[in-house]
Parts: sequence; C-alpha cells; structure tokens
Amino acid sequence: MSLVTEHHAPESTSEPSARLHQRPSSPVVTRPEGKPTRQDWFDPVPPRPTLAAERRFRQEQLAAAFRLFAQFGFDYGLAGHITARDPEWTDHFWVNPFGVHFSQMKVSDLLLVNHHGEIVQGRGPLNRAAFAIHAALHEDRPDIVAAAHTHSTHGKAWATFGQPLQALTQDSCVFYQDHGVYEQFHGVVNETDEGHRIGQALGAHKAVILKNHGILTVGPSVQATAWWYIALENACQVQLLAQAAGQPSPIPHDMAALTHSQIGRPGGAEFAFKAWFDQLVQREPEVLS
Ligand SMILES: [Zn+2]
Repeated sequence: MSLVTEHHAPESTSEPSARLHQRPSSPVVTRPEGKPTRQDWFDPVPPRPTLAAERRFRQEQLAAAFRLFAQFGFDYGLAGHITARDPEWTDHFWVNPFGVHFSQMKVSDLLLVNHHGEIVQGRGPLNRAAFAIHAALHEDRPDIVAAAHTHSTHGKAWATFGQPLQALTQDSCVFYQDHGVYEQFHGVVNETDEGHRIGQALGAHKAVILKNHGILTVGPSVQATAWWYIALENACQVQLLAQAAGQPSPIPHDMAALTHSQIGRPGGAEFAFKAWFDQLVQREPEVLS
C-alpha cells in the first residue's frame, strides 16, 4: 500500500510564516492501515535454502569482495587472497586464481581447491602462499567460512611494529582484544606448518597482524571477513596517522570492551558489506558471471 495518495499542496495553515515555508507540490500522506512493524539492521538474514544456493551465494560475495578490495587499493603486486569454505565439501575452499587482477574477478574465475592444494574446479595457477596460509586456517578454525589477506599499505606499515593495535577510536574497538600478532617472519609462507603457526597467533580472534608482512582477517561469512579487512586496514591507517601527529589517548578498557561488544559482531560487518556489494553489482554486473 502506498502512503502517498495524491499530489497537491496541503491546506494552508493560518500562519503566514508557515505558508512561506510550504512546498507547493508536497504530497499528502495519510495514516497507513495495519499494524506498525519494527525492522532493525541487525535482524538475522534468512539462510539460503540449499547447499547449492549457499555455494553460489558465497561465490558471488567472494568475487565481489575482490573487486571491492581493488576499489579500496588493496591490490599491490597481486599479492593477496580471500577464500570461502565450500558449504558441502568443507575441507575445500574457493579462492582467486593467481594473476587475475582483483578488479576483473568474476564468479567463473574462482578455483575450488582441496586440502592437498589440488585444483578440483577452475583453471589456475594457484598461489602457493594462499594455500599454505588459508588451508591451515580453515582446518584450525572450523567455525570460520572465510579468510582474507593482502599486502595493503597501512596494514603492512603497521605490521612492521609487530604490536597489537590500541583502542584509539570507536571504529578500532571492533578489534579490541580481538586480534593476535604473529611475531615471526620467515619469508614467503609456502608451507602449511607456518600457516598453522599463524593460526596459533590468530587464536579465537577475528584478525592477526603478521609482523613485517601484513594483516589477515577471518570470519563466519565472506561478507564479515571482507568488511573486517577493510576496517582493520582503516584502523591501522588511523593509528599510524595519530601517532605521527603526537601521543594519542586510548579509550579506557571498560569502554573499549563495551564498544567491542556493541560493534564487533559479524552482523554489523555483514550489513556494512552489503551496501558496498549492492553498489558494486549495480555498476559491474559481470562480476556475477
Ligand atoms: Zn602475504
């Protein structure tokens, strides 16, 4: 039912000053029938009805996430990977083929990789570091659906300190006491053994800072994981800016912990990601092909 019933000016009020502010073509709005309802941004999204639908959903979110990462400038050297666990073959994951620019990724480009690092669907090549890191994380954390890692500038710059981020802003509280630091650097990660050590540093958190390397996020959905990556890169940038300007004042523990409980859950990240997904698909519908 439309709330707008017709288009003409409302009746004039008796106050001349009010008449001056009336818009002559304002629509008349009548009181709607029926019971008012309530809808919040954090309402749960209905699950996909079949495994095939869930697989397709994850593939679409994944391909779009790559394009959004390119839009945010996280495409340095093509060094990066986002993975999505397959909903049926849970020891397999979907990942980008090495060498395809993030800005051109499509659903049909994605590779399905098994736990031996073999490509069982799609055409490679597969980035060995992507397998070594992500296979270990997907094995160590059965609760996660996705993991994201690139060599984005501010995350990489902050990673040189080998320290956790402080709770400097409301936004950075998403990661308050919810990220680890992997303090070793052994060159390019080519072995799953090191992937498992990264998994230990990650623990039960949503992110890990890889010293002298970059940042990495994980989550229960592609959308949350991708949004948390964008948010973590931003938190690193903000802390670098603040410290370059002087001595920033962190948020006290109790308030940082409260804020984390308010904005640190996956629903908020998924909601934020959806807006970016929608505008991307409208502008670049071929991402879903
Ligand atoms: Zn890397």
